[in-house]
Amino acid sequence: MGPDFRLDDRRLPALRGHLTLDIAFGPLAARLAGGIDLVESVGELLLLALGLGDARIAHGESPSAMKRTSPARGSALTRCARAGRGSRMRALLLFFVLLALAMPAEARLSREERAMAAAVDREAGRHVELLERLVNQNSGTLNLAGVARVGEMVRAELEPLGFAVRWIDMAATGRAGHLVATRRGNGRGRRILLIGHLDTVFEPASPFQAFARDGNRATGPGVGDCKGGDVVLIAALRAMQAAGTLRDADIMVVMTGDEERPGAPIAAARRDLIEAGRWADVALEYENLAHEEGRDFGTVARRSSTSWTLTTHGRSGHSSGVFGEELGYGAVYEMARILDAFRRELAEPNLTYNVGVIGGGTPATIDAEGLNVAASGKTNITAETAIARGDLRALTPEQDARVRARMQAIVAQHLARTEAELAFSEDGYPPMAPTAGNRALLARLNGVNRDLGLAEMAEYDPAKRGAADSSFVAADADTLAGLGAAGGDAHAAGEWIALDSLARQAKRSAILITRLSREPRP
Ligand SMILES: [Zn+2]
Repeated sequence: MGPDFRLDDRRLPALRGHLTLDIAFGPLAARLAGGIDLVESVGELLLLALGLGDARIAHGESPSAMKRTSPARGSALTRCARAGRGSRMRALLLFFVLLALAMPAEARLSREERAMAAAVDREAGRHVELLERLVNQNSGTLNLAGVARVGEMVRAELEPLGFAVRWIDMAATGRAGHLVATRRGNGRGRRILLIGHLDTVFEPASPFQAFARDGNRATGPGVGDCKGGDVVLIAALRAMQAAGTLRDADIMVVMTGDEERPGAPIAAARRDLIEAGRWADVALEYENLAHEEGRDFGTVARRSSTSWTLTTHGRSGHSSGVFGEELGYGAVYEMARILDAFRRELAEPNLTYNVGVIGGGTPATIDAEGLNVAASGKTNITAETAIARGDLRALTPEQDARVRARMQAIVAQHLARTEAELAFSEDGYPPMAPTAGNRALLARLNGVNRDLGLAEMAEYDPAKRGAADSSFVAADADTLAGLGAAGGDAHAAGEWIALDSLARQAKRSAILITRLSREPRP
């Protein structure tokens, strides 16, 4: 047909009510056009191509106007239609339609999912305001009252969403406590555990205390670790509430009060989190998003973190007798033998073991905290004692157990007249191994990314991440970590986040949680 045409905008809402094509094909348009303007319009294009739209005849400008995505009023289609010749428009419409039909069925946001995304955007200012309040309340791990106050602030967010909130007192472990919130759904979908934490590494004595904002960048103690993540979690739940998808979901939220410095014994300090992991089918953890060079990454694994103490003993005597039948090698040579064997023999992918502190002599001692080694001695006396402390980080429980056994085997090959023992701390973090279940969760998140028009997230190198609370549930539930804010300098003065990552992450989470909550339990 020759003449140009224009769609009557006033009829579109009614058409949408019957045909949700705009929802189905929006993300594709966003990708094709590289702009958001066209998202709303592809459904209209389809309607037109199918002859359902009300095409009226008009005359327009040059088709090159199509390429502009000006923020002017009116739908992109109207502008396009005004701009193009009819036959060219027809061809373009068919092009879009054919591409849209070639899309996989999952590549679409439902009406509810669009409502969740809109709710997140609508509340963007509220998220920042909440983050500012959380950050400005000091909650260094040992500031027990401050941690409890942050817990109260989170309670005030979750109770209106229908969560039953409990405070688990942790005085017995020397810490403030944990917040555990439960929301019963229909009992049929996968049970979802959301993990954050209330504390930060910045105690009241730190000079770094206040939230500050400079454009898209916010700085403050714990702004990313983990208060930004806590806000993402809350924003996602609020969006689900707004869209009506929270009602049927079975969700538990656990925010520990001592993530940065767990209380002792660890079995008591993590008892409630581990129990929550046993209840859950899926665990999502809101520590910082892994983000490098403009790309977001998925965290399907975290390595273990265990401290060890190595103590060696030798016979003390005149140095002229060293290496001899009577005195042997002394404690320092035995220590050197063991550590050098660790360095030469243990290395393998995804494994590290550091020696952090060492001392040896006659005598050598270490304080109760295990931080200070004191040693004295004379050059002409063989060393009686040597002490070293270090850590071990492994990717899987199998690797962790195997390497520990090899370390013990190396320790056991004593030099003459020496002894040694290697002790692993009981308060370590287990590994969150990169299981098939964790990877399946990242695949689900990448489905959400596709539908949101966001780039696929690759797996992040676990060697670059530290241990976290998700490690305590990973043995019992499929786990995805790092769902919080994007930023940097965690644990240092100047810690910051990019504020726009809050909304991006909240949308991802709201949609992911909703989809998972509708899958039958395994
Ligand atoms: Zn953290």
